[in-house]
Amino acid sequence: MADVPPDEIRVPATDDTPPYGIPAVVASSHGEPSSDVGTEPLLELVGVSRRYGSGAAEVTALDDVSLAIMPGDFVSIMGPSGSGKSTMLGLLGCLDVPTEGTIRVGGHVVTAMDDAERSRVRGREIGFVFQQFHLIPHLDALGNVETALLYRGLSAKERRTRALESLERVGLGHRHDHRPVQLSGGEQQRVALARALVTEPKIVLGDEPTGALDSKNAELVMGLFTSLQSHERAIVLVTHDPNVGEMAERHVRMRDGRIVTDTRTS
Ligand code: ADP
Ligand code: MG
Repeated sequence: MADVPPDEIRVPATDDTPPYGIPAVVASSHGEPSSDVGTEPLLELVGVSRRYGSGAAEVTALDDVSLAIMPGDFVSIMGPSGSGKSTMLGLLGCLDVPTEGTIRVGGHVVTAMDDAERSRVRGREIGFVFQQFHLIPHLDALGNVETALLYRGLSAKERRTRALESLERVGLGHRHDHRPVQLSGGEQQRVALARALVTEPKIVLGDEPTGALDSKNAELVMGLFTSLQSHERAIVLVTHDPNVGEMAERHVRMRDGRIVTDTRTS
């Protein structure tokens, strides 16, 4: 190093010139797939766009977005109303299909699947929690959680046992026979969370999951989300609450259907 003139160290690196002193083969090996466990994305959007309507009424809700969600990620998605957050989360959660682009869930290309196949992937891999809970009014808490386990070849007894365990995990075992109307907003969202978790999904998605709750219940529900963090799982929450956003470790910001920043705090 001492006998290299300073001017030669400052050779600028360009796309077709490898950094000075580093062989081209090493410089170009960047981005090759790694066989390490946990380095494959759980969820992936590649060049995804979603447009609604047609002609003069066409709206581009999501505009050529690429995003990889890794195992262990705890991601907040923030941005102004109408910036495409719910559209993106719905696509990540296999609730919707894009106008253009590719979506992979656990390495499977869901954009190449028919509705039934995509539903199966969703049921197996993804737990989804909405702002407005979306519980079935005529079923009690246990019945609501059990719906996530239908068509899986489980006995009624096994479904019931697992659903009860999931309710206990969110602190609502004692409310298992209450219908949604007999539960507070915070309790309803915890039932919805129990329903999302009963299948042990690797991917947990929430669209403003605390948006309809008072601050005390919002804190409780966020505590449950943070308790779900693990190296194998990814949690992705759309929120406009900066306190919720702060709890995440990766922060995606959207505007006009695009990702404008994607940063990590730890
Ligand atoms: P956010 O969740 O960030 O508020 P959305 O993803 O809901 O944003 O919406 C993004 C854009 O797409 C908005 O302009 C919205 O009006 C439009 N949009 C969303 N859903 C529909 C739909 N089903 N039909 C037509 N336009 C829609
Ligand atoms: Mg939204």
